[in-house]
Amino acid sequence: MIEVENITYSYGDGTKALDNVSVTFPEEHIFAVTGMSGSGKTTLLNCLARFLRPQSGAIRLNGTEIGGMDEAAFRAGVGVVFQRLNLFPHLTVLENLSLAPVRLGRGAKKGILCEAGEMLERLGIPELAGHYPAQISGGQAQRVAIARGLMLKPGVMLLDEPTSALDAKTSQEFSVWLRELKSDTGFVIVTHDLAFAGETASRGIFMEGGRIVKSGPIRAVLSHIDGGLSA
Ligand code: ADP
Ligand code: MG
Repeated sequence: MIEVENITYSYGDGTKALDNVSVTFPEEHIFAVTGMSGSGKTTLLNCLARFLRPQSGAIRLNGTEIGGMDEAAFRAGVGVVFQRLNLFPHLTVLENLSLAPVRLGRGAKKGILCEAGEMLERLGIPELAGHYPAQISGGQAQRVAIARGLMLKPGVMLLDEPTSALDAKTSQEFSVWLRELKSDTGFVIVTHDLAFAGETASRGIFMEGGRIVKSGPIRAVLSHIDGGLSA
């Protein structure tokens, strides 16, 4: 569980991107952080991922302030999949999944390659194991990036605009896939795609001008917006 309490973040040029934001992300849900472009979503994600440090307020992971956690413990708790997926182009899908666990000393390479194969199997994409990133589609790459993140078994995984490179049909398939994922990991999805948020998440927030203007069950959050899902 991640608890965010009264955080404020301003960029060097004075732009106040987060203004007294408080929200709790439970682990067992798919949670959507929604809002129009410029509302502060990515800044919030970057604070949760510890890439930015809020000027005030607190962020706690399972009760511990994240600023004081050591890197390994923090990264074991919180995973991130960026908008640009950053798959290594010279490595196969299987090798992409194995790289971080091997580097972090999570086991012998052979065993980790085996786990990577099982992960792809579990996520319904075993046929991609030997492919290189250039040989797979955008929708497949999004799944592979999530599979790679899940190899480290984080409690929470943050996804920034996961549908930005996907067409409507692929987004919908991705949504179904994500909901059916058998995983102990909770997901926080940052998205301006309200239809995707509505289909995928159970709870969420809607941001405007660096503030949370609505939070709760995703239907209630989205119905608050003018025009509902068509906005
Ligand atoms: P979103 O992800 O919802 O589009 P962002 O968190 O990227 O919103 O941006 C929130 C606000 O902060 C916007 O006004 C944006 O212009 C500003 N902003 C984002 N990144 C920077 C930066 N590096 N320097 C200055 N202002 C920024
Ligand atoms: Mg953004």
